[in-house]
Amino acid sequence: MPNYNLHQHSTFSDGKSEPEAYVKKALELGFRAMGFAEHSPLPFPTSFSLKQENAEAYVRETARLKELYHSQIVLYRALEFDFIPGISDDFSFWRDKLHLDYAIGSVHLVRPENRDGLWFIDGPKREKYDDGLRKYFGNDIKKAVKTYYLQINKMIESQQFEIVGHLDKIKMHNAGRYFKEDEKWYRRLVSETLELVKAKGLVVEVNTRGLYKNRSDRLFPDDGTLKQICKMKIPVLISTDAHQPDELNSYMDYAQNRLIETGIKSVAFFCGNGKWEDVALG
Ligand SMILES: [Zn+2]
Ligand SMILES: [Zn+2]
Repeated sequence: MPNYNLHQHSTFSDGKSEPEAYVKKALELGFRAMGFAEHSPLPFPTSFSLKQENAEAYVRETARLKELYHSQIVLYRALEFDFIPGISDDFSFWRDKLHLDYAIGSVHLVRPENRDGLWFIDGPKREKYDDGLRKYFGNDIKKAVKTYYLQINKMIESQQFEIVGHLDKIKMHNAGRYFKEDEKWYRRLVSETLELVKAKGLVVEVNTRGLYKNRSDRLFPDDGTLKQICKMKIPVLISTDAHQPDELNSYMDYAQNRLIETGIKSVAFFCGNGKWEDVALG
């Protein structure tokens, strides 16, 4: 099992425990590195993101923990940025202000072309996905999914980050109902995005959260997309997107086995200061 995890949420965003509880659990699991990746502050009220007024406290607490545990584990301060075109701050603003070690780029809220409203594709409620699909895209699933991937493409082209978060989260509430992932138009969209990922030298996260939360029967990404990632030699890492300490290694073994089955032989390990190294799986 990979002994590190770069995607955690504590009470600084929508996680259930204080940051130190994750560090203690990581030590128990024998991790050699762990990163906090709170949801980035957004310029409108949300129930899930780091509040601007708590940003300094996040820096202080993570600095304290880095120092306190430095002989036992390498800790990182990061953010999982939400990219919403024309709305979210440039990633570099918070990156510089909070002296982040790395950044994850994700899309949870899709902005329709006419810029009217936001489609929330994540969270536990499938009805919200269905409502948004109807309200913002007139139930045109191709248009909706295309808008999602174009938003990711725009993020890749315009923002500074290292890790692509749950690349195909859009499939979660679809659950095979509106489209199948092997349809040509869908594969084309994923291919276009992967080309950009490759060109920018980004790492794709293989995220297990859907599995242990029972919201998906597969990894993000899995199947055809994972095979394509393997073929294109795009680096990957496994993360659990833990919102409580006992999720720190949930389904990591499963993910590792899926990667090996797919033909992926190593994962990317973050060494700090923008450096990565390959670690063999198995
Ligand atoms: Zn996320
Ligand atoms: Zn997350």
